[in-house]
Amino acid sequence: MKVSPTYERNLEIHLHGPGPSDVPGEVLRAMSVTTLGHLDSEFIRIMDETQAMLRELYQTKNRMTIPISGTGSSGMEALVANLIEPQDKVIVVRNGVFGGRIADEVSRFGAEAIPIDLEWGTVVTPEQVREVFSGKNCQALFLVHAETSTGAHQQHMREIGEIVHRNGALFLVDMVTSLGGTEVKIDEWGVDAAYSGTQKCLSVPPGLSPITLNERAMEKLRGRKVRSWYFDLGMIEKYWNEGHQRKYHHTAPVNMIYALHEGLRLVLEEGLDTRFQRHRRNATALQAGLEGLGFTYIVRKQNQRLPMLHAVYLPEGVEEGRLRKEIKSSYNIEIGGGLGKFRGKAWRIGLMGHSSTENKLYRLLNAIGEVFKKYGISGDGAAGSQAARAIYQDTES
Ligand SMILES: *Cc1c(COP(=O)(O)O)cnc(C)c1O
Repeated sequence: MKVSPTYERNLEIHLHGPGPSDVPGEVLRAMSVTTLGHLDSEFIRIMDETQAMLRELYQTKNRMTIPISGTGSSGMEALVANLIEPQDKVIVVRNGVFGGRIADEVSRFGAEAIPIDLEWGTVVTPEQVREVFSGKNCQALFLVHAETSTGAHQQHMREIGEIVHRNGALFLVDMVTSLGGTEVKIDEWGVDAAYSGTQKCLSVPPGLSPITLNERAMEKLRGRKVRSWYFDLGMIEKYWNEGHQRKYHHTAPVNMIYALHEGLRLVLEEGLDTRFQRHRRNATALQAGLEGLGFTYIVRKQNQRLPMLHAVYLPEGVEEGRLRKEIKSSYNIEIGGGLGKFRGKAWRIGLMGHSSTENKLYRLLNAIGEVFKKYGISGDGAAGSQAARAIYQDTES
């Protein structure tokens, strides 16, 4: 079989940015299998299995656990369109770019966004949440579990969930970067609805947004004419309804669902605990390596740092864009620049899913070290890898 010369080239890239992450061969292979009809019984079996696996990842019994057709942001839009009504008051934790997007989205749907504005690189406390609710009638609280623009890892999820429920509101969470890379416990934390994306820690190409909603959330949309036709979850539910007549709403992106199905199978084959432990171990080594090269973390508190995304300030004298380009052109390694207020000042280095391995980490640290040496930035270009190696030797498994 011939493909165009565009794809005959062996494209070599190692993805260490804020997503997408490296996609395993098994997933690419599954994507290239014959496209079935979206109502074919064989495809429906694949859909059912995909839902069951997503529930395991999200740690939930929620029936309404499905991939939305679209990237991570489509999950955000689906939640807002279905669960937020005009005139609602919605508390939005803004501690980075993605919290800001949610506030924008909420106001576009005619609701009032009540921001909790925090210093970027910090997380919200239960006290702050309690305070914002006091004396106000708010219908929902929205926060980002893993803020990819700063590397901040939201803590106190269960406590925040309790406060939100005591105030009769819905607890809505962006889990785009956390799902598949660190603990996510929908039922235990009392999260009413959440969304994620395929291209971060699931290591599936971009294109789907796995969402989950509990019955409390589903009640809010029942009997209401949702303001988005494409994301009307009441209608979409009738297509994903396990064990029932499947009702066409829009054509499912069949091959993307194969990819997700295979990606989820690989995640569960590794095991969630093993996978999270791998992400943590490689994060500890990367941190030692980056600090050895003179980087400092945007998130100051160690226990609030994400294992899969390292947002770091560059050492003195580093020309951000130029060095990043050089790492790409000479080593085929992609890392991310700073987002929002960190543009030009920081890098975002991802160790997500399939991109989080010891070998890939050495390649990455070596490349940064070499480029630093070339530009005379740090005295010893090998300092990063040496520091990482010491961590691996200390935690020999
Ligand atoms: C990547 C990301 C998104 C957006 O996902 P897209 O797939 O780019 O639409 C939303 N929230 C967070 C926290 C992200 O990291």
